[in-house]
Amino acid sequence: MKKRFRELERTLGAAMLVLLLAIPSWAAITVAVGTDPSKQILKGKIVTPDQVLDGEVVIEGETITCVAVDCDDPAGATVFTITNAYIFPGFIDAHNHVAYNFLPKWTPPKLYQRRAQWQATQSYKVFKKPYDELKEKGLTCEIIKYGEIKALISGVTTIQGTSPGSSCIRVLIRNAENQNKLGLKSLHIRTYILDISSFKGGIDWNVTKSFVVHLAEGLDTDDRSRNEFNILKQKGLFTGQTAIIHGTAFREAEFKEMAQVGAKLIWSPQSNLVLYGKTTNIRLALQQGVLVSLGVDWNPSGSDNIFDELRVAAQVNDSQFDNAIADSDWIKMITVNPSKALALDSEIGKLAQGLKADITVLQSKNSDPHQSLLNTHLQDVQMVWVGGNLLYGNKTVLEKVKPTQCEALTVHGSEKRICVKDTKENVPKATQTLAEIKAILQANYSNLAPLTP
Ligand SMILES: [Zn+2]
Repeated sequence: MKKRFRELERTLGAAMLVLLLAIPSWAAITVAVGTDPSKQILKGKIVTPDQVLDGEVVIEGETITCVAVDCDDPAGATVFTITNAYIFPGFIDAHNHVAYNFLPKWTPPKLYQRRAQWQATQSYKVFKKPYDELKEKGLTCEIIKYGEIKALISGVTTIQGTSPGSSCIRVLIRNAENQNKLGLKSLHIRTYILDISSFKGGIDWNVTKSFVVHLAEGLDTDDRSRNEFNILKQKGLFTGQTAIIHGTAFREAEFKEMAQVGAKLIWSPQSNLVLYGKTTNIRLALQQGVLVSLGVDWNPSGSDNIFDELRVAAQVNDSQFDNAIADSDWIKMITVNPSKALALDSEIGKLAQGLKADITVLQSKNSDPHQSLLNTHLQDVQMVWVGGNLLYGNKTVLEKVKPTQCEALTVHGSEKRICVKDTKENVPKATQTLAEIKAILQANYSNLAPLTP
C-alpha cells in the first residue's frame, strides 16, 4: 500500500511538473530607451525562421544589420529585452483582398463548384454593394487602411491584394503590389483576379518577377476549373515566376507541372471550405515539391486573421493530409515562402542581415515556437515593426518608445497602442488616426466588421 502511494505521489509530482511547464509565463519586455532613435536592439528568442536562437537582432534605420547570438551593439540604441516571447520575421499574408475587410462575414446560401457561380448570385451582389458605394464616395483609402490595420494587429507586415497605384499606402504595412518602400520597379508584381480566359496582352518577365493569379478555384471534379490551367499555359503565363492562388481543382498532374517549372502555390483553406466545402490538396502539392504559402484571402468568407487561418490549415492537415505538413512549415508558409512567391525575398521574409526590419514578437504559448504559433491569438501579439518603425505593441512599451504618438486599443482585454497617424510621409490622408478612419466608415456604413473579432 505504502509503495503504491509513493508511486502515485511520484506520478502526480511528474504530472504537476508537466502542467507547470505547459503553462506559459507572461511575456516580459523591458525597454531601455537610447539616444539614437534610428538604432534598436531586440534581445530574446529569435526564429529566423530557419534557425531558433537565443540572441539579438540589431536594427539600423529600416534595415536589420545583425542577427546573431552576440552582435556588436551600436551606440545609443534602444534595447528591448524580451522574455517568454518569440521574435519572428514580420508575417506576409500571401493572398488577400485588403479593401474588402471592412465587410462582415458573408454566409453563402449553398456550396458551389466554381468561383463564377457564387460571384453571380444575388446574395453576393447585395453583400458586396457597400464596397462599391464606399469607393464611389471616395473612401478607398479608409477601407484599405482599415484592412491594413486588421492585418497589422495580427503581426502581418506585408499583404498581397491591393490595386497597384493605390494612393494612401506607405504609412502602415507593406502592400505587396504597391511595393511600399521596397525600392523595386513598378509592375514587379502583377496580380490578376478575373477569369484567366479574359487576360489580354502579355507579361514582360524581365520587369514582372511575380505574376499572382487566381486559378482553378473550384472542385477537382469541375472540368472548367481544372481547364483554367490549360488556358494559363496557352497564354504563356505559366512560368517559375507564376504564383497560383487556390488551385483547389488541381490533381497530381498539375502539381507535378508546377514543381517542374518552379511555379508557386498560395493556399487559403477557410474560404475554400466555406464556398466549396473542399480545399486544395496540399499533401499532393508538397509530395510533388511545390512551394506553398498561406493567405487569409479576405475576411468575408475566410478567417478573421492569419492565426485563425493557420489553425484551419492545421486542422485540415490533421484530418485530410495525414499531417503531411511539418510543424516547422507553418511559419515558413507566412514568411519565407510568400517572400519567394511574391519575388520579395531579397527584401523581406527572414530575420537576416540586410533585409528590412519587419518583425513580429509573439507571446510564447509553448516551449516549441511552431506549436506556440498555432496557439497564438490577437491579444498575444506583443510588438510589430515595419521597416524598423514600431507601429503596434503593448501599451507599456509604446508609451516608453513613442509617448503620445499612438492610440489606445484594447484587444481582448490586453492594452495595446497602435500608431496609425503618420506625420512624416507625404501621402494623402496619412495623418488620419484609427479613431478618425473608424468614424468615417461608421458614418457611411452601419455594419462595419469589428477590428478584433
Ligand atoms: Zn482571392
